[in-house]
Amino acid sequence: MKCRCGKEAIIHLRPYRLSLCDSCFVDFYERKVRRFIRKWRLVEPGETVYVAVSGGKDSAACLAVLQQLSVELGIDVAAIHINLGITGYSEKVEDACRRLCRMLDIPLEVVNLVDAYGVGVEELARSTRRSACSVCGVVKRYLMNRVPRELGANRVATGHNLDDVVEFFFKNWTSGNYFWISKQKPLLPSTHPKVLPKIKPLFERSGLENEMYVKARGLPYEADECPHAVTSRWGEIAELVEERAPGFKLAFARGLEEIKIVAPEPQFTQCSVCGEPSSGDPCAFCRILRAAA
Ligand code: SF4
Ligand code: ZN
Repeated sequence: MKCRCGKEAIIHLRPYRLSLCDSCFVDFYERKVRRFIRKWRLVEPGETVYVAVSGGKDSAACLAVLQQLSVELGIDVAAIHINLGITGYSEKVEDACRRLCRMLDIPLEVVNLVDAYGVGVEELARSTRRSACSVCGVVKRYLMNRVPRELGANRVATGHNLDDVVEFFFKNWTSGNYFWISKQKPLLPSTHPKVLPKIKPLFERSGLENEMYVKARGLPYEADECPHAVTSRWGEIAELVEERAPGFKLAFARGLEEIKIVAPEPQFTQCSVCGEPSSGDPCAFCRILRAAA
């Protein structure tokens, strides 16, 4: 497999019918992300963007590419990581985040759930009798908004990739969760003065592209998955379709960007415990903390 420049290719991008070497791929990737950010006006000059880093390849790619484009976009980039207190896993992903941010010279804020609230995700799951991923989602949504806002962020960026976008759509569509699907957009504007806009700069980039980008730039990431991660059959189904029809996921995501799915927005009230905006009182985060107390 040869790149168009004649060097050995490291990746074949089936949707684009393109084989690229490491340096041509890095150029290609950054060009695509730059164009996507500009098309959807994901950032404005002068803003500070906090990237939610998990230690994995996708958020590492998101942080690295935003920093690479930061001068021309006129933005400051910082990172936030939440140590979820997951046995045998959280320590090593925090370490990967610290190494990544040191290498990129990006300020990193780490919130340790056990230190800050006295309880980790697994204990919260046990006491609420919910799955670890369900309480983890509540914790991340809450802290990834509150902490960056208190640190002066204008936006929060996440490393959601093309595979996540397609899988998430099918999973939620078939369960009738249209509200969540309506949130599956490159930019989620703020719906309350205390709610930061959320951006997904890698909406059209596959997990493989993100992995190759961090590898081509020699950046550290943790390849092991969280012990609570489950393989989604919708992810597998989307992959099967992609194999038969290369470019399916990209076309699908582009359709999702354009269509408007209207789902009723919850009315905001203020949590009487923590003061954060919420659709109920107390908010979901304070409710699960209370259950574990
Ligand atoms: Fe949280 Fe579940 Fe992801 Fe683990 S797999 S980090 S518990 S959402
Ligand atoms: Zn609260």
